[in-house]
Amino acid sequence: MFELTDEQKEIQRLARDFTKKEIIPVAAEYDKKAEMPWPIIQKAFDIGLWNLNVPEKYGGQGVDCLTEALIYEEIAYGCLGVFGAFGGTGLALTPLLLSGTEEQKEKFLTAFTKSAKLAAFALTEPNAGSDASSVSTRAQKVGDEYTINGVKCFITHGGIADLHTVFASTDRSKGIKGLTAFIIPAGTTGLSMGKKEDKMGDRASHIAEVLLEDVRVPVANRLGNEGEGFKIAMRTLDITRTTIAAAAVGVAQRAVDEAVRYAKQRVQFGKPIAEQQAIQFMLADMVMAVLASRSLVWQAAAKVDAGQVDGVLSATAKCVASDTAMKVTVDALQIFGGYGYMREYPMEKLMRDAKITQIYEGTNQIQRQIIATALLK
Ligand SMILES: Cc1cc2nc3c(=O)[nH]c(=O)nc-3n(C[C@H](O)[C@H](O)[C@H](O)COP(=O)(O)OP(=O)(O)OC[C@H]3O[C@@H](n4cnc5c(N)ncnc54)[C@H](O)[C@@H]3O)c2cc1C
Repeated sequence: MFELTDEQKEIQRLARDFTKKEIIPVAAEYDKKAEMPWPIIQKAFDIGLWNLNVPEKYGGQGVDCLTEALIYEEIAYGCLGVFGAFGGTGLALTPLLLSGTEEQKEKFLTAFTKSAKLAAFALTEPNAGSDASSVSTRAQKVGDEYTINGVKCFITHGGIADLHTVFASTDRSKGIKGLTAFIIPAGTTGLSMGKKEDKMGDRASHIAEVLLEDVRVPVANRLGNEGEGFKIAMRTLDITRTTIAAAAVGVAQRAVDEAVRYAKQRVQFGKPIAEQQAIQFMLADMVMAVLASRSLVWQAAAKVDAGQVDGVLSATAKCVASDTAMKVTVDALQIFGGYGYMREYPMEKLMRDAKITQIYEGTNQIQRQIIATALLK
């Protein structure tokens, strides 16, 4: 049984109030316009809800993974697209936190945390999604520099981030063992934004191609050794999948709350639909799934905090929580009947948003593959 610390409860309350005041009132508008929520990001920075996973000595908040999960659940409760700015940045900084040298952390993080900035994690390519061994972006070492060429796609904050963490191959013959990670700061010549995506959900989050044309970075910008990129990416995802799972719980919890409220109000056959056992059982199933998902998220996050990152548990939390978010939002929309299908009500956005949690940071087929491989070992 988890007991949150007073500090965790306090920050959870702060995030909840922030969501209520700053995110919920404007979420539909950002969804409609598909715009980055810059004012929200700035306010989050101002009150200490930004750079959550960056240690205090580099100017971040230095919160533990469970606290991060609590905050992300609250933010995603308000809008999953807005969460994208938080989660996408946290994801992109994790390789540097895990594998950067003291010098690299000091240099890149201290500058990064001075104001509200975005980071981008660039692994996916048009022909390399689930299969990272197909990455064709190439990094060629010439003297004490690398020249990087390639195209990344579906990158959160792609082309607009202040810092891109890019995975490129230094030896294509070695597949995933030839992948290497690099830090590319904004303003580096040759890095630009390609096609910006128009998404079905998660619309307040910016996703675009990143074009890398003869991008030159010093050897000092390489994270770890050549060939360690895949390991760095997987160690990163083993941690950050817990935060995606937390966000999925936020979406699912919002759907439950909206459905409960609506079911109590909507009268058909002379009484609120909440008095129909069919509706009650749907609500009970929804809340059970949300509670079970939250438990998994907290367990996986607690493992990270104990220094025992458990990739299988993170994959389980991500898979269960995102499948729950999808099912719960579909069922909650059903409780709203025809009104649920209308943009005027919050349900259709929640359902559109939920879908991405089953896809990004590794599809749920890939999560199941991770779980089954461990099971059958
Ligand atoms: C909104 C959004 C934000 C994103 N943000 C980022 C980001 O910031 N950085 C980044 O690098 N990437 C990002 N991505 C990319 C995302 O991680 C990939 O889309 C995802 O990993 C799947 O890759 P794919 O789309 O190429 O699908 P594919 O790999 O082509 O998969 C297609 C289908 O085949 C299934 N499949 C593939 N291989 C197997 C297998 N071995 N066994 C069973 N089924 C399999 C998949 O599960 C899926 O259902 C983002 C994507 C989206 C949509």
